[in-house]
Amino acid sequence: MTITPLMPVYPRCGFRPVRGEGAWLISEDGSRALDFASGIAVNLLGHGHPHLTKAIQEQAATLMHVSNLYGSPQGEKFAQRLVDSTFADTVFFTNSGAEAVECAIKTARAYHQNGPEGSASDRHEIITFKNAFHGRTLATISASNQDKMHKGFAPLLNGFKYVDFDDLEGVKAAITDKTAGFLVEPVQGEGGVRPASVEFMKGLRALADEHDLMLVLDEVQCGVARTGTLYAYEQYGIVPDIMASAKGIGGGFPFGACLATQKAARGMVIGTHGSTYGGNPLAMAAGNAVWDIVANDEFLAQVRETAEKLRSALEQFIGNYPDLFEFVRGMGLMMGIKMTHEARAFVAHLRDNHGLLTVAAGDNTLRILPPLNITEGDISTFIEKLSAGSADYIRPDAA
Ligand SMILES: *Cc1c(COP(=O)(O)O)cnc(C)c1O
Repeated sequence: MTITPLMPVYPRCGFRPVRGEGAWLISEDGSRALDFASGIAVNLLGHGHPHLTKAIQEQAATLMHVSNLYGSPQGEKFAQRLVDSTFADTVFFTNSGAEAVECAIKTARAYHQNGPEGSASDRHEIITFKNAFHGRTLATISASNQDKMHKGFAPLLNGFKYVDFDDLEGVKAAITDKTAGFLVEPVQGEGGVRPASVEFMKGLRALADEHDLMLVLDEVQCGVARTGTLYAYEQYGIVPDIMASAKGIGGGFPFGACLATQKAARGMVIGTHGSTYGGNPLAMAAGNAVWDIVANDEFLAQVRETAEKLRSALEQFIGNYPDLFEFVRGMGLMMGIKMTHEARAFVAHLRDNHGLLTVAAGDNTLRILPPLNITEGDISTFIEKLSAGSADYIRPDAA
């Protein structure tokens, strides 16, 4: 067998989308699917949103890329908006989520190793959490305890310690004089749409303050209005020192951002970090256009309202199929249904037989990530499809 032109690292399915309209994807053969996956929490305004596509089209025709050798009016504008509406004082733009996490890890290490005269220490260890997902670069796979992502890529990067998610005592026990900080998803995405408890997040903040450690949040999946606030940390009553954002931030245009306070970024001085494409005018046009729409109280209130409707519909619905579903969890429009068995086959069944796109996640979880601007009609269609798909599903383990 010859290798495929697309490196065969993904088990791609037979659905081959070529066009998108709002919450719908249309495949090569003309079939339509309701997209409650949003390209894994990316297309938060659905497909073909007029404000976003217009901004990208106009910017593409004006100026796409110039490198970071020159001043960036587009980047300054978007960075200022992020600074104005979050905990952060400064932003580094990247091209992906993994790179945003990489920058966050470097910023946390540099805080300890590259601070002002007399402050430097060799603190470098980052405490991360089991079943976390932080990306696929060498540093970000090293930051996760998942063996399936490590296999074949040794040696990993040193300096990560894995503790059970939501286990504050475990964190306390893992802190040493080499610890630089904590890296945590407020809501684990790939791990199964599991929100951290408020006590845990507040506990991490307190430990970080007590030991002068960096609290680094990975909001690549849960950030940018997905949970009903601009960032999930707002709902925990804490602020991070450093945060990675990506996925939804470009609404489908690929880019990410590493946000930090002035104090946390003290080691990131001229020459310490860089990216050829990071924050180019095209990415910034996409970011500004997404921000125009999501960064206001009205939109966020609408997301919370939609999420409540979807959640109560789901909670009512799953009771009909106790052999399939256990419970609903998540925050805002980042929702999961914990299933009684592996979710992957059910996700494929919904997609192939009912034209409904969802995503499987760890811990037997059916992940539901619709565009944030779905209508009540979309929710009804979703429940109809889910209902029909549950009624004619034959569990692989029951055959
Ligand atoms: C998707 C994801 C990443 C990696 O983002 P990429 O853009 O795929 O590199 C990192 N962290 C979390 C929480 C994610 O969900």
